[in-house]
Parts: sequence; structure tokens; C-alpha cells
Amino acid sequence: MTNKIKVILIHKLLSSKIQFLKGVGPANAVKLSKLGILTIGQLLEHYPRRYEDRSKLKSITELTDGQYESFRAVVIHVNELKSRRGFKIIKIAVQDQAGVAQLTWFNQSYMKNKYKPGMELIISGKIQRHANIIEVTKPDIEPASEFYAGSGRIIPVYPTTEDVPQWRLRSLILQAINLLKNSVTPEEIESLPTSIIDKHNLLTRKQALVNIHFAVDMETLVKARRRLVFEELFLLQCGLAYLKQRNKYNSKGIKHAPDGVLVAKVENHLSFKLTNDQNKTLREIKADMEDVTPMQRLVQGDVGSGKTVIAAIALAKTVENGYQGAMMAPTEILAEQHYHTLAQLLAPHSIKLAILTGKLSRRTRDEVLRHFKDGAIDVVVGTHALIQDDVEFAHLGLVVTDEQHRFGVRQRARLESKGNQPDVLIMTATPIPRTMALTVYGDLDVSIIRELPPGRQPVATYSRSNTRRNKVYLFAAEQIKAGRQVYVVCPLVEESDKIEAQSAVKIYEELSATFFKNIPCALLHGKMKPQEKEAIMTAFSCGDIKALIATTVIEVGVNVPNATVMIIEGADRFGLAQLHQLRGRVGRGKYKSYCILLSDNTNEETLERLKIMTEVNDGFVLADRDLLLRGPGQFFGTNQHGLPDLKIANIVTDTDILLEARSAAQHTVCTPEYLDTVWQTLQNWFGEKFSMIFCR
Ligand code: ADP
Ligand code: MG
Repeated sequence: MTNKIKVILIHKLLSSKIQFLKGVGPANAVKLSKLGILTIGQLLEHYPRRYEDRSKLKSITELTDGQYESFRAVVIHVNELKSRRGFKIIKIAVQDQAGVAQLTWFNQSYMKNKYKPGMELIISGKIQRHANIIEVTKPDIEPASEFYAGSGRIIPVYPTTEDVPQWRLRSLILQAINLLKNSVTPEEIESLPTSIIDKHNLLTRKQALVNIHFAVDMETLVKARRRLVFEELFLLQCGLAYLKQRNKYNSKGIKHAPDGVLVAKVENHLSFKLTNDQNKTLREIKADMEDVTPMQRLVQGDVGSGKTVIAAIALAKTVENGYQGAMMAPTEILAEQHYHTLAQLLAPHSIKLAILTGKLSRRTRDEVLRHFKDGAIDVVVGTHALIQDDVEFAHLGLVVTDEQHRFGVRQRARLESKGNQPDVLIMTATPIPRTMALTVYGDLDVSIIRELPPGRQPVATYSRSNTRRNKVYLFAAEQIKAGRQVYVVCPLVEESDKIEAQSAVKIYEELSATFFKNIPCALLHGKMKPQEKEAIMTAFSCGDIKALIATTVIEVGVNVPNATVMIIEGADRFGLAQLHQLRGRVGRGKYKSYCILLSDNTNEETLERLKIMTEVNDGFVLADRDLLLRGPGQFFGTNQHGLPDLKIANIVTDTDILLEARSAAQHTVCTPEYLDTVWQTLQNWFGEKFSMIFCR
């Protein structure tokens, strides 16, 4: 690339403090900083949340009860009343050609001096219609003159706080736009190579910034947005492509030899035949390991698709080559489970295994650590305990992390750093929709195990309203009498662990006094101590406990083949991907299994969503549907998935642009200079999340 490119964030105007603008003193600067706006550049990148078409403001008589609407009206009089309980109530009557409306505030006397008869206002708020009166309580108000600042027909509406009124934000942005128009040339703030702009038919950055705020018409607005979405995704993909290339030209990795006797022994002793997808994945892994470039591979496979076996064979391969392997799981229960599985597969072939969790006594731990260091232990399975500073290896050749999204990228990097460029395998049972994978894991190679081992019966799934709850629990009790075990998952309460735990306690008390009377039951929730949780999980695993009433803390990956019933209370509160994960706890053995989704929600969309669960068993299909239904932010139900909060792009609806930008990024040869600026821009945009994505 020959063009010299500067990035917007380093231009003088854009890096100027916001106080540079008229009307921004110290007080306003503090208020704006709460919106993340410190510089003029950040102000210009504070994109509208939506737009209002000025020709579409409604008249008062057209306002709909219960809706959030905007209208334009003139103040006719201002009144202050006192309620019986001593509140001050301010009422302002406003009118347009069609009718009258009343605006109400409580205990905000200053309002009465702020608005005078004759003032023209744009009023937004939730409309309440009682009989003949239209009322709006605590509306958003802006002077009409400010509202029309910028003059276009399309008015931007910004995300903001109560502190910074819409109109103020709008007028500051207008001021900044005027400065931009008058004192900066397009070249000075362009972030994309000219060749890319031409080829993809994009607006310049300057044009796009002006029009995303104050567009001359709808068509230009669409173009402005497309340019900014493209830019964001292009830079992100450049960063990912760079990571991948850097890895590719890294010739200091470990070159494993082609398969020898040990790998053959492990493979020949399996009690089953690998599926086609398992074989394909294994071939890809082996090829990576035999290459000098360090492997960076993500294996996606639904619960029960047989990922652990694949990991075991890869671990045997590294041991065969004289290296050690480490596998990290997010919880002790999972680490123990993997340890047992791996021991069964590897120990008969004189591979020495150890487990490292927080539970070990000091003495045992010291001994285990000593044998990591002197190389006497070949394979270790553990939790976070593996990444502590005093854990050292003789020669780490392969790092496997399970359930990757539970680990921060940094934690993974710390384990990898205990070896000298080991091969890395990441396994996840959460199917990730393709567009999301391209963004979050864009620098990794991906293998997918779609096919389940033969003979698996799909879990029979039913959606039931609470009127049939009795029947459902009677059925569960019957299954327990027949020797099986049951999970009951309590409603999800996103905001509060405490309320969630309380609701679990209630359900537990109810069930153990009624349907599960005389049946050994246990309660499991996030507020319990780790030891308590473990003791309960262990008792459930070995069958002492028959019914487990739990919040979503029941671990992904927990394997109790005797459990055949999964009852999910308040199922409407969960996403499809989450429901699928929970369902994966049953159907792991030889018995027919059931998943029952209880919900009293009668919303048509919700029922439709639950119905999808009863019809679809493929986690990848569900993941795509879930992403479509709930959007990327909600997808994993947590904030730890490493997906940056994109400023303007939406990977669900902007898929086409994503693919276009990705392909463009992969075909762009970036100069170190350009990468530097890309890096800086991304860092500025994504802040904290930047290191999560890019410090692999
Ligand atoms: P995952 O880790 O992907 O959830 P596991 O590796 O735990 O799945 O496999 C689930 C179960 O299926 C295990 O009991 C495993 O032994 C068995 N299994 C794995 N691969 C096959 C196969 N190809 N044929 C039959 N059973 C298999
Ligand atoms: Mg290698």
C-alpha cells in the first residue's frame, strides 16, 4: 500500500478537548465525560441512536396511549399545585392546532420558571390518555428552535443521560461538525486506503461523519452509515488478520512428528469408531501440530459431540514427541471429570497424568509441581490453579482449554506462556454463529464437529404452561422411582444473584415438601460456598441425590448419564443457546431423556421461541436463531465473551458488510505504519476490551 494514511484520532481538531467548544465549561465537561465524551473526536463518534423525521411529528390528537412519542406544541400556562401529602406538582399546559396536553412534574419547582407561555417546544415522553386529558409525566423537552438546529429534515436522536439534554448534545455536535467542515480536509482524517474507498464505493470519512449526524437526505444517511460500519469492521478485521499473519510467520513453534506408536495405541484402544467430523477435526489438528507455526485452533462441537476424545489424542501426540500437555477447565468439577476421562484413555499406555486444582494439600501440590518441572508428569488437567506463577513445565507442547468463553483471553495467554510457543487448542460447546465467530475468533482456525456419535436419541422436549406443572413433577417423581435422576432449573434473574437464589430456595422448599417428599433432593445456587457446591455435585454424580434444584450454576459440561429429566422453570427468561446448554445435561446415557420448558408467558413471540426448542436439536441452528432473536449483546448472557461493543456495526444485520470488509482486509497488505494506526484506533475504540481480543 502506497498511500500514506492518517487516522482520525490523531488529528489536532479531533483530539482537542471538548472544552474547546462554545458552551462547554467545567460542569458540562464532567457531564459529557459520563457519556465517554472527552474530545471532539469522541463527540463526533457519538452516533445517533435513531433519527426522527421532522415531517412525521404527530399532532396531539394523534398520540397513542402508552407509547413513547414526540410532538410539537406551544406553552399556554404554567401552574404549581400542592398535593395532599405536600408534594409540589408542576403542571404545564401546551397546545397545538389540534388539541391540548398536560405536562407534569413532581417536586421540580424550577420547571415553572423554565417554561413561559408562548414558548414552542418539542416534547417527548410516554403518553397517558385518561378520558379527555392527555398527560405526559416527566417528559423530555427541547426548545423547538434548538430541535431544528442543523435544519435537515432528519433529526438525530442521541443516547444520552438526564444531565445532558438531547438539544444540547445536538447543538454541540453541530458546532463540531461545522469546525470539521471548515478546518479539516478529507485527506487529513481519512482512515481507509483510497484504493479501498474506490473499490467499495464508500463515502470519505469526512462526508460520512457529517452525514451520520445531519444527513441531507435518507439516501446519504444510509451511505454514511455503510461507510462507518465498513470502516469499523475493516479495521477490526485488519487487526485480526495481522494477528493471524504474525502467527503464521512465526517459525519458532513446535514441529511435532507424524504419528507414531503411542498415538496409534491410543486410537486403536477406543471402544468406538470416531465420527467423520471427529476424524476430520483430528486430521486438521495433527496437520497444525506437525507444522512449525504454532497451532491456534478452535474446535466447536455441541455437547456430547466427542471433543474430549479428540483432545486426548492430541495430548498423546505431544507426549509421543517428548512434550507435556496441559488441559484447563473452568471449574473443579469439570477438571475432575476430564481427568477421569483422560486417565481412562491415556493411562493404560503409560502416560503419566496429574490433576491440579485449588483443592490439593500443600504437600501434594508441591510434589505435583516438582514433577511438572522435572518432566515426570506428561499430562496435567486443572483449573485456574494451572496459571499461578509458581507452576512451571519442563517442556509444554500443547495447551488445551475447554469451554473457552469462560476464560479471559489473558488467562489463556498466561498458560500458553508457560511453554515456548506451544500448540493451542480451544474447545467450546457453545455453538457460535458464523458471523460472530468471524469477529470474536477471527484470527483462529476453526474446526466444527456437527455430527453426534451414532445412536444418540434426541432429548424429547416439551413446552408447557404452569397449569400442567403438577403433571410434569409427577412424571419427574416417577422417573426417580424408576431409578433415574432429575434436574430442576430455577428462573433466571439477570440483575440479582440474591433474588435468583431466593427463588431457588422457594422452589426447593416447595418441591421437597410435595412432589419430591421422601426423595433425596438438594439445592444449588451461586450464593453457596464452593465446597458446598462441590459436595452436592459429587453426591448428585454418584446418585445419592436424586433431584437437583439449581440456578444456572449447574455447570456446562457436567456429565451425569443417569439423569434423564431437565425441568426448566420460567423457561421464557432464557435464550435459546442457554436452554440448549441446559438441555445438554440430560440424554448423556442410555436412557430416554426429557426436557420440559415451563412458562406462563403467553406472548406469541416467546411461545414461538420455546416451540423452536421443541423442534430443533442442532445447537448450531439454535445459535443462529438466538442471535437473530436476541442480538449479539445478549447472546452469551454474559459480558465475558470477548465481543467488543461495536460502535456502529451490528454483526447480525450487517453480515454483508462484515463479509465484504473481511475479504478486503485479508487482501490488503498493510504497512507497519498503517497497522500502527489501526492498532491505535482500535485501542481507542474498544478500550478495556481491546486487550481481551488482541492480546492473545
Ligand atoms: P463433549 O466433550 O464434546 O461434550 P465427550 O467427549 O464428553 O463430548 O463425549 C460424550 C460421550 O460420547 C462420551 O461418553 C464419549 O466416550 C462418547 N463418544 C465420543 N465419541 C464417540 C464416538 N465416535 N462414538 C461413540 N461414542 C463416542
Ligand atoms: Mg506446531
